[in-house]
Amino acid sequence: MKNWLNLNYVQPFQSLPNTLFTYVQPRGLENPKLVVKSAACSQLIGLDEQCLDEPSSLNLLSGNGILNTWKPLAMKYTGHQFGHYNPDLGDGRGLLLTQVEHDKLIWDLHLKGAGPTPYSRQGDGRAVLRSSIREFLCSEALAALNIPTTRALCVMDSESPVYRETAETGATILRVAKSHIRFGHFEYCSFTKQHDLLKTLCEHTIAQHFPALLKQSSDNIYAAFYQEVLQRTAKLMAHWQSIGFAHGVMNTDNMSIIGDTFDFGPFAFLDDFDPTFICNHSDHQGRYAFNQQPNIANWNLAVLAQALLPLVPKESLIDILESYSETFQQYFIELMLPKLGLSKNNEANLSVIEKTLAMLAQCKLDYTFFFRKLGNIHVTAIQQELRNISMDINAFDEWFIHYQNALQENGQPLNSQHDTQRYLAMNRVNPKYILRNYLAQEAIEAAQQGDYSKVQTLHTVLLHPFDEQPEFESYAALPPDWGKKLEISCSS
Ligand code: AMP
Ligand code: MG
Repeated sequence: MKNWLNLNYVQPFQSLPNTLFTYVQPRGLENPKLVVKSAACSQLIGLDEQCLDEPSSLNLLSGNGILNTWKPLAMKYTGHQFGHYNPDLGDGRGLLLTQVEHDKLIWDLHLKGAGPTPYSRQGDGRAVLRSSIREFLCSEALAALNIPTTRALCVMDSESPVYRETAETGATILRVAKSHIRFGHFEYCSFTKQHDLLKTLCEHTIAQHFPALLKQSSDNIYAAFYQEVLQRTAKLMAHWQSIGFAHGVMNTDNMSIIGDTFDFGPFAFLDDFDPTFICNHSDHQGRYAFNQQPNIANWNLAVLAQALLPLVPKESLIDILESYSETFQQYFIELMLPKLGLSKNNEANLSVIEKTLAMLAQCKLDYTFFFRKLGNIHVTAIQQELRNISMDINAFDEWFIHYQNALQENGQPLNSQHDTQRYLAMNRVNPKYILRNYLAQEAIEAAQQGDYSKVQTLHTVLLHPFDEQPEFESYAALPPDWGKKLEISCSS
């Protein structure tokens, strides 16, 4: 393991034309303090995690200094926000500090909250502690759930005041990702008619992130690239829908070209299953409601197709785009069947998925709690527990008969020698611990008082979402009423 000085810095993004970025020096925060760090993330870049406790790290990761091998830059991009094109976007408060190669992979180190850039518009270039902690916990939790996501190395708190609805403290988060290239980068090149730049950006993205495409013979490599982006995006949506994750701000500038969960704002993991749940306080129309996410990804992919028009024939783009619904559906089924302990991809089992989701909505059952208990439904007490918390007992009973029949049809009837095997397999895909908003909120409130221990403990619990962790049983409990559907402010 290495220290900051001897990591392998590469920085390929800088080789792109400088219309895609501006070099910017970070602006430091006062008296930085380390809130939480991720050992798993530091391994990805080959950094000895002990380094993160040293004063030099505090400086580097709070914007108070850089290494002379780094050339921090702010990226230019545009994007569609809530359906409308915004030409003025870019990294307004984050800098790509540098890029590191480790184990044959290149990682971006992006410092969020590092001060203003030419793309800050009216913003102060800062991030507050609560949103930095939320992004840190969520990205590391999603990674532990095996969902594609950007990562986070650490959060730094400070004594610099930052003004939102009230005075708060400025913080930074060091985001680690294989790419910070967004759909919006392609929109910027295309909609400003910089077609050579668009081609260069596609070539760069393919070489770094989709090298397998270079080996395939295809009529049009850019069409193959679009097809791959669509696949990854559809897969990501299937992951979100199957785990009960609402992103909240699926603007095209928040869509990663490599299909990572990207840019964490007012996200939420569902508590009681409500398909129409809107986690973004400012999303009055419900454009980004939980059950809209797959459609919105489709819409965003259509915008990307439009951006690629200078490079790919329209008919090819339309053909590929038309495969989206089917692709999403296949991935979704693949993820949902094992959650239910079913294996066969047939009509009957597909109808069990539908019936289960309808029952969960009708009974207002907690999504994560239900699936975790489902593996044990052969135990009468567990079955009764779920029934008792159902808001519609008849709907629950009716569903239970269907489910029992389905298991029977699948050759794994309840109360047979298959129970244990099914229970173990289901526990590997149905997490016990997720980042519930109220848990994040409690940890944030303690951190705002200077006690970072709750954030660290929550992070530790979320590292092993599928394991039984008896000492942390309370983190798997149903949320208290005050903790359901918390409204999260967007002013992060
Ligand atoms: P987001 O909603 O976080 O995806 O941000 C949308 C755009 O606003 C991006 O271009 C951000 O860089 C920019 N932005 C958000 N917050 C700030 C801030 N405090 N200062 C400057 N720019 C910001
Ligand atoms: Mg964004």
